[in-house]
Amino acid sequence: MSGKIVILPETLTNCIAAGEVVERPASIVKELLENALDAGATEITVDLEKGGSSIRVTDNGEGIAREDVPLAFARYATSKIGSFDDIYRVHSFGFRGEALPSIASISRVEMVTRQISSPAGTRAIVEGGEMKEISDIGCPVGTSILVSRIFEPVPVRRKFLKSDMTEQGYCMEVITRLALMQSAVKIRASVGGRPVLNIPSAPDLSERIALTLGQDFRGQLIPAAGEIEGVRLTGFVSRPEFTRSSAAQMYVYVNRRFVKDYLLNHAVMTAYRRLIEARRYPAAVLGLEVAPGDVDVNVHPAKMEVRFRNPRGIYALIVDTLSGAIGAGLTPGAAGAAVSSGAVPSGYVSRVEEALKRYRVSSGPGKLFFSGPVTVKTDAPANPPPLSREDAKWGQPLFSSGENSGCPHFHCFSDLLYIGQTAGTYLIFTGEEGMVLVDQHAAHERVLFEKLRRQAQNDKAVGQRLLLPEVVSLPPRDIAFLTEALPILEEAGMEVEPFGGDSVVIRAIPDFLSHTEARTLLLDLLAECGEADRDMPLQEKREKIFTALACHGAIKANRNMTGPEVSGLCRELDAISHAATCPHGRPLAVSISVAELEKMFRRK
Ligand code: ADP
Ligand code: MG
Repeated sequence: MSGKIVILPETLTNCIAAGEVVERPASIVKELLENALDAGATEITVDLEKGGSSIRVTDNGEGIAREDVPLAFARYATSKIGSFDDIYRVHSFGFRGEALPSIASISRVEMVTRQISSPAGTRAIVEGGEMKEISDIGCPVGTSILVSRIFEPVPVRRKFLKSDMTEQGYCMEVITRLALMQSAVKIRASVGGRPVLNIPSAPDLSERIALTLGQDFRGQLIPAAGEIEGVRLTGFVSRPEFTRSSAAQMYVYVNRRFVKDYLLNHAVMTAYRRLIEARRYPAAVLGLEVAPGDVDVNVHPAKMEVRFRNPRGIYALIVDTLSGAIGAGLTPGAAGAAVSSGAVPSGYVSRVEEALKRYRVSSGPGKLFFSGPVTVKTDAPANPPPLSREDAKWGQPLFSSGENSGCPHFHCFSDLLYIGQTAGTYLIFTGEEGMVLVDQHAAHERVLFEKLRRQAQNDKAVGQRLLLPEVVSLPPRDIAFLTEALPILEEAGMEVEPFGGDSVVIRAIPDFLSHTEARTLLLDLLAECGEADRDMPLQEKREKIFTALACHGAIKANRNMTGPEVSGLCRELDAISHAATCPHGRPLAVSISVAELEKMFRRK
């Protein structure tokens, strides 16, 4: 009997390797852009077809010599390293020589390239990993790579792709990440022939941030710079009042490579601790320059995770530098603080000082708290866990959604006597049957949510027109999402229209949100309907948007409610047929019956 083990043919191994490198069209965009940057390009154009179904990246870099073209498509063929140790010396993005063969194994690639020294360029066509054609062609210096029929040889991979819009969003995000750190490179992008991005080269990073992420960032950025042996940190972080409701705008780079690293993000969040509310996130564009020997980038196929030789030092560097920068940015006249104007909320400076003091106390020389792996909570869980038995011990949710919804002993909130508020958040009521506690924020949120739902059904949303329509510029991935969400916003009384390029104009906001800032509201909405959720069906999208709007409009925790406000809320709750939980799924009221009270006090 012959043996069972065979060596797989290269076309198949490339396909398998492509599984690691090419997860989705955006991964192709990333690899092609990195190659263009490695080739020293100063101008790069990305042309996408719908959803990244075809991708063309054109650069004015050094080009590839005719004899090297077939090698560029061979596995482990690279011009960037020659020995293993070189990996720890490289300054280029690539070095594994895997990207082009992986991409070519799962698509059709057409490459046109010319070096300055060569009179003619080369055109090569590779399909399913096989070189089909290689010929001369007249073309400008540089390289243009067109990738089409993506995943055709591996149809199963296509099933894992999300909607065109989401995939396109991922592609745009990849471009944004690279564009931020490459101030000198001109980057343009189009989708289906329509220009969507045109970022000129910028003299400095803060200018580049505004050009890439939106003009809103102007005047909101605090410069940060610090150094420890072998590591330099530079970049910008947002003023603490300019926060976001997701961590999506925290961009951290190691040696110009975008990384997603818990340790680094945690350090950034620590610098803001107590300065921003829970579940709010700063925007940040930070670059770490680490001696290549002190960081291992070869731990992740897409090189998104890295490993440091001195993680504690880097953690401390970030916390120290950012805390200092944020403090200096807010202390009037602080030396060297190139901070633009912007009203500082009262009490703010003292909070910064307090946080700084606390940080110094807790960190002290050489005893910064840092143990084991750290994790960052990026977002609240979409559905909070149901009350456990333990939680339910002292009181039952008033209406647990399901069988016993509609508590038999309880008719309406307005019949209860209001006693007062505890913990700044819970309203205490007494009634014939015992005691009722209401979470003021959750309750009001439910009221507003129901109101939005009713209005949407009856087509009668009331919007509050803004005296001055507000123009907001958005990162490209948000524009596409917003375009689809416009009718839903309109149902809620929020009027937003495209305003050309990367901008939209807000003309009206829901009446119950008239006290909020329109721009912040829109940005928060976009952040809350984060990337992962962008594929949801319309109905779900509506729920999500309504929930976010209701949450923004609802009375906050830790606010004193007046008597009339409490009775108003009770009436509104009574008008809702199934006020079981807040739209996020938390209970909004809990009752403790007289019998339960008696048990607690051992009277029974
Ligand atoms: P790596 O980037 O890891 O070296 P790739 O498979 O991405 O591997 O690319 C293989 C080789 O092809 C590179 O080392 C480089 O020499 C060449 N190459 C790829 N894209 C370009 C480009 N846009 N301009 C110039 N050379 C390129
Ligand atoms: Mg590469």
